[in-house]
Amino acid sequence: RKQVVAIVGRPNVGKSTLFNVLAGEKISIVKDTPGVTRDRIYADATWLDKSFTLIDTGGIEPESNDVILSQMRDQAQIAIDTADVIIFITDVKQGLVDSDSKVCDMLRKSKKPIVLAVNKVDNFQKDILDMYEFYNLGIGDPHPISAASRLGIGDLLDVVCEYF
Ligand code: GDP
Ligand code: MG
Repeated sequence: RKQVVAIVGRPNVGKSTLFNVLAGEKISIVKDTPGVTRDRIYADATWLDKSFTLIDTGGIEPESNDVILSQMRDQAQIAIDTADVIIFITDVKQGLVDSDSKVCDMLRKSKKPIVLAVNKVDNFQKDILDMYEFYNLGIGDPHPISAASRLGIGDLLDVVCEYF
């Protein structure tokens, strides 16, 4: 069966933007409102000689009891359970926040390979120093990307495809 890659993280870190870049089409909805992607969204993607299925998720708000947010969390958990590799995405502009650590705990429990992407590194010289705090998650190297500017995407996919 085709390998499955799930894009997971809290709302508004840029999951759908990355999904659209990787899927090569505007499939997922990108909006400034956190959590607009409420359902799982699938696309076929290829990198070099590898092809895989991508899943975008609505995002995980770990503490919320809100009905929609808890449904989004359930959908994300299904995506995590389905995935062979997880891209865990965070936001360099907001830095490492408590929800990131809680999402990270959920991901660790899955025992799936996790590739840590730090998004919104739009200006490598300026933003790269802020990336290092993500080592504190304890899941290995953070990979800097700018989904919006399509930077660091190839290097990220190289790391993802190493797990296939
Ligand atoms: P999601 O909720 O995680 O799916 O996040 P979205 O993909 O919907 O993006 C949330 C917001 O972040 C939108 O306003 C995007 O335009 C913005 N965004 C996404 N990627 C980047 C990036 O690389 N740099 C910057 N500066 N903004 C980004
Ligand atoms: Mg989204």
